[in-house]
Amino acid sequence: MKEVLLCKYGELILKGANRSYFEGLLLKELKTRIRRAGDFDIYKAQSTIYIEPKDDSCDLDAALEYATRVFGIVTVDRACVVEKDADAIFKAAKEYLPQFLTGVRTFKADARRSDKRFPMTSPELSAHIGAAVLEAMPKLKVDLYNPEIIVRVEIREYGAYIHAGQYKGAGGMPLGSSGKGLLLLSGGIDSPVAGFMMAKRGVVLEALHFESFPYTSERAREKVLELAQILCEYSTHIKVHVISLTHIQEELRRACNEDYFTLLLRRYMMTLAQRTAEKYRCGALITGESLAQVASQTMAAIAVTDNAVSMPVLRPCIGLDKEEIVSIARKIGTFETSIQPYEDCCTVFTPRHPRTRPELDKVLAEEAKLDFNALCDEAFETLNTYDIRIDEE
Ligand code: ATP
Ligand code: MG
Repeated sequence: MKEVLLCKYGELILKGANRSYFEGLLLKELKTRIRRAGDFDIYKAQSTIYIEPKDDSCDLDAALEYATRVFGIVTVDRACVVEKDADAIFKAAKEYLPQFLTGVRTFKADARRSDKRFPMTSPELSAHIGAAVLEAMPKLKVDLYNPEIIVRVEIREYGAYIHAGQYKGAGGMPLGSSGKGLLLLSGGIDSPVAGFMMAKRGVVLEALHFESFPYTSERAREKVLELAQILCEYSTHIKVHVISLTHIQEELRRACNEDYFTLLLRRYMMTLAQRTAEKYRCGALITGESLAQVASQTMAAIAVTDNAVSMPVLRPCIGLDKEEIVSIARKIGTFETSIQPYEDCCTVFTPRHPRTRPELDKVLAEEAKLDFNALCDEAFETLNTYDIRIDEE
């Protein structure tokens, strides 16, 4: 029996004037990811994207898993497809559906007919499918109001699709529909989660990591590239830019009041991030900050860092507790890598008494002790780029 996947997307996409643009993005994204599971025909018709194996070597389980991770897709149905003939449909229903119904007590059959040439009405077809299922599994009961499972038959343009296995998709918006953002990616738990959350809203990710060699190690950089590799499951191709902050940090330590180190450093980081974003055409910066998590993430401290840049800074974790961030990190697969213990440039030279209620004029007075622009120019020269792509294996 031939099985296919039917991917359905949200109303948001269906209603918008950009519908065909969104569908194009979804198709492109599905094609890139599903390729890893074999040679599939992937096409759209009637507000559904079809994923059809071209030969026996295709791995439909893997394709299903990849499809449920594509943003913008709300549900994926695993269905068997037969010709639009009543007998063929009932026969297939009896053979195909029981595997999804073991351990189930109540069900309901729901037929939809988008091809109106099919000779039965939807209620008639539903009744016949229900009867066919009962014939195959006589212990099942029909419950029209609160069934444990709904068995569906869809009479569509290219065939009849029978299914009971519906899987939840990733939701969100198609990747690319919200432009490109520059993720400030540390090796920590929060920033990969922030990247995932913005990718879910349709933002293509590019990343920027700051290191401070030799205070941070080669291994710390590799960890960040590994995190970017995991994030490619959600934003297919991520350029990771790396900038060295070593000299800036040494200068800060030499010339400035220790209490302001972190804030001053963050203003350098934001400025360099904006420069990178402008050069690589990203429309916003993305950080993993969460309000009040640490001294540099109080409202006053955020005001001081934001003052260094003019572009929007997206902080999707701002209202989340650590536990909530950790639970997303586990779900998206970044947690185990994030907790590997390698130093971050922010943890080198941390002040003993960081300012939690900094005043901008005092910060600016400290900052004026160094040539801010010259140090930024010099650091920007160290920018190095790594191209990370979804694992093709
Ligand atoms: P994370 O878990 O993401 O490291 P955090 O709670 O440790 O976050 P901070 O170290 O204060 O918080 O950093 C706040 C945000 O600044 C991070 O979420 C990240 O977006 C950015 N950031 C911090 N360190 C770096 C770095 N070395 N390179 C790039 N961005 C960084
Ligand atoms: Mg950190």
